[in-house]
Amino acid sequence: MLKVDIDKCVGCGACEESCPFGAIVVEDGVAVVGDGCTLCGTCVDACDVEALEIEDIGRDQKIDFDAWSGVWVFIESRQGVIADVSYELLGIGRQLADDRGVALCGVLLGNDLRDSCDSLIAGGADIVYLVDNPALGHYREDVYGRILEHLIREYKPEIVLAGATAIGRSVIPQVATALGAGLTADCTQLAIRREDGMLLQTRPAFGGNIMATIECPHSRPQMATVRARVMAPLEPDPGRSGEVITPGVDRELFTSDVEVLETVREETDQVNIQEVEVLVAGGRGLESEKGFAILRELADELNGALAASRAAVDAGWVSYPHQVGQTGKTVCPKLYIACGISGAIQHAVGMQSAKTIVAINRDAEAPIFDIATYGVVGDLFEIVPALTQKIREARK
Ligand SMILES: Cc1cc2nc3c(=O)[nH]c(=O)nc-3n(C[C@H](O)[C@H](O)[C@H](O)COP(=O)(O)OP(=O)(O)OC[C@H]3O[C@@H](n4cnc5c(N)ncnc54)[C@H](O)[C@@H]3O)c2cc1C
Repeated sequence: MLKVDIDKCVGCGACEESCPFGAIVVEDGVAVVGDGCTLCGTCVDACDVEALEIEDIGRDQKIDFDAWSGVWVFIESRQGVIADVSYELLGIGRQLADDRGVALCGVLLGNDLRDSCDSLIAGGADIVYLVDNPALGHYREDVYGRILEHLIREYKPEIVLAGATAIGRSVIPQVATALGAGLTADCTQLAIRREDGMLLQTRPAFGGNIMATIECPHSRPQMATVRARVMAPLEPDPGRSGEVITPGVDRELFTSDVEVLETVREETDQVNIQEVEVLVAGGRGLESEKGFAILRELADELNGALAASRAAVDAGWVSYPHQVGQTGKTVCPKLYIACGISGAIQHAVGMQSAKTIVAINRDAEAPIFDIATYGVVGDLFEIVPALTQKIREARK
């Protein structure tokens, strides 16, 4: 928290000028901190009279790190079905738990989900904490957040993972804030540092131009979200055994300010590009919306779907749900054919784990060739129709 010492503040405005986020203003001769403050510390350095101080909430509290143990995965479910990302998190969670020599636990909140616990154990969990209650039938972030916070305080896991999904992104930050814990969003790699057991959380930073590895040395639990399709699930093992624990939760934790009147499933004719095995993706090299017609033919021939770079989406040639990359979707198809896409890091982070990548680009130096399994240097307007034709013939 940024604190202003009003006895020292002279209202000079140096802090206001220095703040890159416009989060501090001088009002009536005193600096006032607004909601946009990110605690970057620029204003503290700019203040000549030392009137500003970032109060370190966590560090002066002594944390007994040994009291925190175990790796937890927040399990997401929708209408009684466990989300795929939860199995993916159990996959990476298993590795982390094994490296730490601790239990891997799933935390499942919902209604009538007892039968799902076996599949979570088969997916790698040693323990499932199940809070099964009709009040949890609809996702409500205040109730889910409060119960998750309560369970974390009670059982003290050292690591908590959640999907970087709409639900994960709404519930996890409030829990991390309530606990004063560190949280790293959208991680693409997670590992344990051997020497001290610290969770190393890696994610793209500065517009994807660098990969930053973040650690939380002063607080527990260490919390991270991971997007869908970044981690691989384990092969389910129905023979695995595990324990289901149903913790007691006070009734008042179930009360909510939110009343769910109805849940409406979005109607769309678009396929979810995260769920198809073959993606034919186009970028700025397609030159126009019309250019995508040749990609659509190839995708149809391969029973696949269309994907796109942000440049193609920004140009309005393809709609946003097709966008792959840092600000789009992360995909992991069996085959990804990138046509007229340069392979910028922000695109690559969304598709580089595809099993086979074929790149078609007329620039032999394009970075996409660094991650492609097969590369074709040439004009996509010649190569793509020829490829479609060949596949058509081969199928006959
Ligand atoms: C914060 C941030 C987030 C971003 N998020 C994303 C994201 O989620 N997804 C994303 O894709 N980008 C994202 N970007 C943008 C990214 O940096 C690139 O600008 C973008 O990916 C470029 O798209 P492109 O490869 O289609 O276009 P270009 O980089 O312009 O590449 C076009 C390629 O087509 C080739 N080409 C042209 N004509 C032909 C032809 N006839 N035949 C064959 N090849 C041809 C060219 O050689 C070139 O390599 C983000 C950027 C920022 C800063």
